[in-house]
Amino acid sequence: MIVRARTVVTMDGPPIENGAVVISGDRVLDVGEFPELSGRHSGQEIVDLGEQALLPGLINAHCHLDYTCLRRKIPPKKSFADWIRAINAEKAKLSQQDYLASIADGFAEAKRFGTTTIANLTAFPELIPQVNPPIRTWWFAELIDVRDPNRTGDLVALAIDAMKRARDSGGGLGLAPHALFTASANLYRRCEEIAQGENILLTTHLAEAREEMSMFHDASGPLYEFLKSIGRNMSDCGHETPFAWFAKIAGARAGRALPTEWIIAHLNELAESDFELLVKFTRKFHVVHSPRSHDYFVHSPFQFERLRSLGFNICLGTDSLASNADLSLFAEMRALQRSEPALSPDQILEMVTMNAALALHQENALGRIRPAFQADLVSIPCSGSPNLFEEIVAFDGSVDWMMVAGKT
Ligand SMILES: [Zn+2]
Repeated sequence: MIVRARTVVTMDGPPIENGAVVISGDRVLDVGEFPELSGRHSGQEIVDLGEQALLPGLINAHCHLDYTCLRRKIPPKKSFADWIRAINAEKAKLSQQDYLASIADGFAEAKRFGTTTIANLTAFPELIPQVNPPIRTWWFAELIDVRDPNRTGDLVALAIDAMKRARDSGGGLGLAPHALFTASANLYRRCEEIAQGENILLTTHLAEAREEMSMFHDASGPLYEFLKSIGRNMSDCGHETPFAWFAKIAGARAGRALPTEWIIAHLNELAESDFELLVKFTRKFHVVHSPRSHDYFVHSPFQFERLRSLGFNICLGTDSLASNADLSLFAEMRALQRSEPALSPDQILEMVTMNAALALHQENALGRIRPAFQADLVSIPCSGSPNLFEEIVAFDGSVDWMMVAGKT
């Protein structure tokens, strides 16, 4: 099949006017100018998308589809601990069927907004085998052992067992110890051990909120008090910043390569001493920024430029609808553009295509339109304006056409 569009944005060189992509099975076979390609691959079915820009499918690097049904249910709270209390109260009302419906709605919405790959954390890995993802999915089992730190090994084993029964979506698997305040050091280490031996990725929430900083650094604040009240062992508090503590327990001390690369969500609260530590990392991990969730919580400014200049690979995620309005990565790109006006729109688009592909270890398969890469494509209207990338970031609607693994 040959798919022709007014412009093909490959993220692998300049956009191609009157471009085309040749698809064979689930892969891209060829990409170039339409007249040349239609000659070289004559006899193929031609799908002409017309006045459209054809892009690599977008990749959401951090999301929780479990909570799609919580859209607009939790108004912004003064305290992060209060938000956790509020989401826990909402979760207590939901059944397994509610979660399955929520996940299905989330997939449909993400797809409508042009997302072809999603890194989805689920707090209910046992539900994974019942879900048939319509897009390429990396399932991350979100693990919390704060209430039962003696069952850490069982928790991980059960999650792995459920994930291995996931239906094939062309994606992969991962483990997500939730955060330093809900997952024990033991749980982080166990996840790292397992990930090292298998093709399993790792992600976690880190240094998200000011209250997390005051909890770990000063042993005080609303999050500290909340977790102490539920019986958490607080002996890890009052010493280090969250990042320094993570670096210690994840075996990632300065100058030593991380055992497995982590995908770190948030990283909003960094002290100067953390930057001194970050400079020394020889192998840079991946950072997911969720601009609209960040705005909802009014976190400290995300240190985009400093992290980027240190070589960290920064991607975008929507986070969940318990702290965001929808699952559009286009809206996420615009939110980033507002806070980082110096960034060019093509650099912003890289964050939801090639950067996110790199975080998922798919830099040779996803995030670009290139021969032998997966045929994951989306198309949006394009007027032919000279500011093509600006027009792409400004796109505000449902995508007109998309393909995942060569299937529309
Ligand atoms: Zn999250």
